[in-house]
Amino acid sequence: MTAKTNIAIIGGGPASSTLAIHLCRKGYKVVIFATPERAPILVGESLVPMIVPMLQELGVEAEVAAYSVYKPGACFTYNADEAFEFRFADTPSDLPSYSYNVPRDQFNATLLKAAQQSGAVLIARNVQLQRTDKAGHIRLDDASLAAAAGCWQGAEPDLIVDAAGRANLIGRLLDIPMRKGPRQDVALFAHVDKTELVDPGYVHNDRMDQGWCWRIPLPGRVSLGFVVPQAYAGQQGESPEQQYDNLLKTDTVLQRLAPDARRVTEVLRFNNYQSISDKLCGDNWVMLGDAGGFVDPVFSSGMLLAMDSAVKLADTLIANQPLTDYEVLVKRHLNAWFEIVGYYYNGRLMRSIKAGRTMPDNVVTRFLFRWVSGHVSRIFSGAAASRPFSLNLLRFLVTDRVVAASPDAYKIK
Ligand SMILES: Cc1cc2nc3c(=O)[nH]c(=O)nc-3n(C[C@H](O)[C@H](O)[C@H](O)COP(=O)(O)OP(=O)(O)OC[C@H]3O[C@@H](n4cnc5c(N)ncnc54)[C@H](O)[C@@H]3O)c2cc1C
Repeated sequence: MTAKTNIAIIGGGPASSTLAIHLCRKGYKVVIFATPERAPILVGESLVPMIVPMLQELGVEAEVAAYSVYKPGACFTYNADEAFEFRFADTPSDLPSYSYNVPRDQFNATLLKAAQQSGAVLIARNVQLQRTDKAGHIRLDDASLAAAAGCWQGAEPDLIVDAAGRANLIGRLLDIPMRKGPRQDVALFAHVDKTELVDPGYVHNDRMDQGWCWRIPLPGRVSLGFVVPQAYAGQQGESPEQQYDNLLKTDTVLQRLAPDARRVTEVLRFNNYQSISDKLCGDNWVMLGDAGGFVDPVFSSGMLLAMDSAVKLADTLIANQPLTDYEVLVKRHLNAWFEIVGYYYNGRLMRSIKAGRTMPDNVVTRFLFRWVSGHVSRIFSGAAASRPFSLNLLRFLVTDRVVAASPDAYKIK
């Protein structure tokens, strides 16, 4: 198989930059086509611990740390008197004991700059993709090819990488179906000046009257996002701002957690996530990051999936393996998170965690608790979400055979 070394990447997000850095280090000729971000704020601010070693590998951790909020753990609140705290320092010692909450515009800029320093050529263009006469083949529009002419000695790229996020450029062009998840939620996203916080660095996840919200502390403000059923959002008003402000005023949980919060940005609305593309690669193209699939914001797995897929794609290309090897690995990872997220919404995950934390205390249960929570931490830190043993253990733990109490007490409406 001829190696693909002339690479066009569309999109300037973390998936794109991570891939570019890894390939440039091996001498690939990489062109990134990216348009400046138009949105005033970007989702993807809370990072799971396993992103930290990736930042170290990319040589950008110190820069990211300088403008981010140190994140020592997470807190999930269900009722006024029931919250579950998870400190990353309590996880097995080979896992990172912290992570970061990042202002995404700065984070993207850091990674993109590192990609350029590695040798990637950045072209500020909104690329148009086209079908060719050969079935399943695609090409860049003539103007984009002309702009990149010097980079590949006038040739066309061997591989076009769609890393343009949820725009899903190749999927739309080639009519590739997406498998949808079961939730029909809307996410409403804005920054506020302040909220209550259990810890100034935790990512907070709180069950609302319907749906749930995140609170992510950022420098000088808090990212506050609501994930609620579409019909419920519709009852709050027409515009994203009306819906957001109404929920902030009327939801009884938000009244407690963010009583004096003042919104300081516009509101962005997202729907139709929870989807995975049926195909992730073809002869001369591949989807990367959100372009291939996005699961759900609840466990902050999106940036991990995007950056980890970039590493997997780089490894596949460098080893000159078929792109279908990459596709198998990424689908396994996406499907694993799909399943894990389901256990959050149906209440089974927290039911099991509660049962584990309230077991009678003796030598045997202490040992068992440490062993089980080691595996569970590996999943949620991002180290082992798709590792069969850890995932099978989680599957077993959430069954009624292990805990008989109804999971309804922790279900998300
Ligand atoms: C509501 C919500 C909350 C989330 N919260 C979190 C979280 O807390 N933590 C987390 O880890 N993940 C979170 N995510 C997921 C996370 O934001 C994404 O998984 C991540 O941004 C994916 O990175 P990416 O590089 O694949 O795509 P993106 O970050 O979307 O980057 C794609 C880039 O491509 C550019 N582009 C688009 N079209 C073109 C074109 N034609 N030509 C050139 N450029 C183009 C875009 O402008 C953009 O800059 C959340 C997602 C949602 C929907």
